[in-house]
Amino acid sequence: MDMSDRTLRTAVQLSAAGLIQESDIADITRVAGSFAVAISPQMRALIDPRAPNDPIAAQFVPSSLEVNQAPEELDDPIGDESHSPVPGIVHRYPDRVLFKLVNVCPVYCRFCFRRETVGTEHNGLDSEALERALNYIESNAEIWEVVVSGGDPFILSSRRLARIMSRLERIPHLGVVRFHTRVPVVRPDNVDAELISALKIKKAVYVVLHTNHVQELSEASRNACAKLIDAGFPMLSQTVLLKGVNANAETLKALFRQLVEMRIKPYYLHHGDLAKGTSHFRTTIAEGQSLVRSLRAQISGLCQPTYVLDIPGGYGKVPIGPNYLSFQGSGIYSVEDNLGHSHQYVESVLP
Ligand SMILES: *Cc1c(COP(=O)(O)O)cnc(C)c1O
Ligand code: SF4
Repeated sequence: MDMSDRTLRTAVQLSAAGLIQESDIADITRVAGSFAVAISPQMRALIDPRAPNDPIAAQFVPSSLEVNQAPEELDDPIGDESHSPVPGIVHRYPDRVLFKLVNVCPVYCRFCFRRETVGTEHNGLDSEALERALNYIESNAEIWEVVVSGGDPFILSSRRLARIMSRLERIPHLGVVRFHTRVPVVRPDNVDAELISALKIKKAVYVVLHTNHVQELSEASRNACAKLIDAGFPMLSQTVLLKGVNANAETLKALFRQLVEMRIKPYYLHHGDLAKGTSHFRTTIAEGQSLVRSLRAQISGLCQPTYVLDIPGGYGKVPIGPNYLSFQGSGIYSVEDNLGHSHQYVESVLP
């Protein structure tokens, strides 16, 4: 088999592919011992090894900077553990659960917020754990939505997904099944007729695509998304704000516009989580707010995701975008427009 057909997983393979220096093999081998490495052939094909700041390489090629671990960084940065009633389920909000079917991904993002748990075992939930997780969803009538995540759930065989979907389809209190995936970008061939037929149930099924740069949206990936949308699955996107990848207004603008042209609504822009060894990717919140403010002033409302922070410790996601409003007292507000000019707003309501 030609090397280019295979997923790159070791420092030696990365060096042979020209993605790291030979002299970095020892350091990168150490990093790979702590955090899984994988670059799919499709992502490798999008990397220009001569570009010093290639945004695809920056996301997937391990760096010796990952050994820098700050005291604020956590093993479980968004507190999944504290809200897990049974393995595979995180029940943090009353009406929805995260359903982590699998621990593996076709690629490993260097900034991953679950980097301590993904890539550490090669199976998802075993059949007993899967049964317990499904029982939990079936027996908690307040659960309206199942957010299927991982790892990457679209890495599972369509046969397995079909079995799980038909169980979910029969749960009367469920209104929505939502998938979070990177597969349509990082392994677009997985989006085939079998996957689509596995996902098709008599409930609303949404697909949220994780994508961080317009260069990820190759023709193959655009086609994969179009197949999902044409089959009746509305798509949203989530993006992580990443220094060295997308933390500037031009890059975000190009990404969000391209997504909207693909009929994908930008949903969340995540502030970088406090995952271990990821400080080189994080911006300040002030930088994030200023980017979001400048996007608001420049591009269509369809292209505006909500800028969110997942509060460390498991307290959930909250919007942390810029504030345009300040209370002046007795029903009077000062509100700022997109040019930065302040205006008075006087409230008028029936007493
Ligand atoms: C992010 C997340 C969700 C989904 O949150 P939304 O704001 O509805 O997108 C649900 N459960 C957990 C545990 C999460 O981390
Ligand atoms: S695809 Fe998601 S879960 Fe997998 S490594 Fe990337 S960020 Fe982590």
